[in-house]
Amino acid sequence: MYRSNTCGELRIADKGKKVTLAGWVQKARSLGSMTFVDLRDRYGITQLVFEGDPGLGREYVIQVTGEVLERESKNPKMPTGDIEIKVESLNILNKAQTPPFTIEENSDGGEDIRAKYRYLDLRRAPLQRALALRHRLAQEVRTYLDKQGFMEIETPYLIKSTPEGARDFVVPSRMNPGQFYALPQSPQTFKQLLMVAGYDRYFQIVRCFRDEDLRADRQPEFTQIDCEMSFVEQEDVLNMFEGMMRQMFKNAVGVDIPDPLPRMSWYDAMDNYGSDKPDIRFGMKFHEISDLVKGCGFSVFDGSEYIGAITAEGCAEYTRKQLDELTEWVKRPQVGAKGLVYIKVNADGTIKSSIDKFYTPEQLQKVAEACEAKAGDLIFVLCGPKRKTQTQLGVLRIEMGNRLGLRDPKVFAPLWIVDFPLLEWSEEDGRFYAMHHPFTAPKPEHEKWFYSDKKEDLERVCANAYDFVLNGTELGGGSIRIHNADMQSRMFEVLGISKEDAEYKFGFIINAFKFGAPPHGGLAFGFDRVCALFGGQETIRDYIAFPKNNQGRDVMIDSPSLIDQVQMDELFLESKVKA
Ligand code: ASP
Repeated sequence: MYRSNTCGELRIADKGKKVTLAGWVQKARSLGSMTFVDLRDRYGITQLVFEGDPGLGREYVIQVTGEVLERESKNPKMPTGDIEIKVESLNILNKAQTPPFTIEENSDGGEDIRAKYRYLDLRRAPLQRALALRHRLAQEVRTYLDKQGFMEIETPYLIKSTPEGARDFVVPSRMNPGQFYALPQSPQTFKQLLMVAGYDRYFQIVRCFRDEDLRADRQPEFTQIDCEMSFVEQEDVLNMFEGMMRQMFKNAVGVDIPDPLPRMSWYDAMDNYGSDKPDIRFGMKFHEISDLVKGCGFSVFDGSEYIGAITAEGCAEYTRKQLDELTEWVKRPQVGAKGLVYIKVNADGTIKSSIDKFYTPEQLQKVAEACEAKAGDLIFVLCGPKRKTQTQLGVLRIEMGNRLGLRDPKVFAPLWIVDFPLLEWSEEDGRFYAMHHPFTAPKPEHEKWFYSDKKEDLERVCANAYDFVLNGTELGGGSIRIHNADMQSRMFEVLGISKEDAEYKFGFIINAFKFGAPPHGGLAFGFDRVCALFGGQETIRDYIAFPKNNQGRDVMIDSPSLIDQVQMDELFLESKVKA
């Protein structure tokens, strides 16, 4: 027996017991006649007391036997802080080189070195807590869905390349020279084929692969909770997965989320928050003031389609310097505004603004009222094309939320965004793209527009598509699908995909729909991000055991890497990059 107890287990009630522990030496403090050692495993830390100096280095793996004693100076911060082990025998199971960084709650190691020695970083408590939370959440998903009659079914990783949206990762086929598999961006078409096959409640906690640029905390491989149901309407899907989220919140982090969850249409989200993933932990909703400020001779406003404002509470004391800095901030390419107009409602009720020249105090007072600004508040105004300006104002709103401390990661404000437009016009490419994906169905009552050839009609079509949003992050999304071959073909036509191309890439699913496809719908949650947000963190990397860096590299195993010429030859490949 290697151990009788773990390092997180013993308490004062165990006083006097003879125990055997095994673990890693986190710290050794020698006082000459005796040495204190913190022994660590994933359950906690227990203090050991040695007579003399046993000569243990950090991260040595040891086994000790001894008696549980009551400590003289207790440590109330540690669960085992009332006791220590008086070591009678020591067995060094393995020595360790001095680790390149401290393996404690907070490490002194930089990100790169910790990534290189990920297995050492994973010994640290914060990462162990993160992976434990991930495990807990995965178990909650499985127990909930199992109870609801869902079957967990695996779908292939080597599939066909059908890039639409993100870029595919591809894998050369040795047995089929010159041909390639693609790794799935999601199991979308397979889960729909499972519906055709009659498996009416499917789920899978599954890896997905997208060859995207990795800014904004993305990983080239990530995990989805992927789900699909047959014979359902949007309402059924939302209720089912709201229930799942409710159980996850309750059992994994002890939080009760509202029942039912709030819902907001995509249009309201854009008009009020300038984002399809609004953070509703705080207000600062938009006020459209076009009618109040247009036609007064201020040409910038007069020439704008949309003029919108947000009110930052208690910010009237912002200095010239702060306002200039914010103006520069909104002009950065990441935001892209042309400028920033402000209106201050001073503590004494008077108004001071950057557009005083063009408006009377009474006119500005009206604007302040429309923006629900009180004495001491500051109004920011942006103008330009409607959706673009709303998006910019949305970015500014989030920034102000951050600056004013309104985005507490311990507060959870989930909601559903519903009624997305089906299609999105790209000026650049002169074509429509599917807002969700090409398998999403138009709302039945909008089908008449879906079959129209007019751009304005197609732009009006909405889908029963929905996103689960938490604290300004989209955690998941899905839709009611097309289950009819003709409608699916029409979709590809609307997306400007030729009949031949649609047949080549998606013939299998169009064909399947000719053999009795049931009505169906589903969704997928981004599991890594679910874990991070539940853990109150912004970044997903801590919740993935072996993540990749911003360049898509695993610096621990040093991948990607070159392969042998022999392997290249077997795969009929030639590299344009010379080694
Ligand atoms: N497959 C979709 C995605 O990855 C989710 C869904 O529609 O179920 O975004």
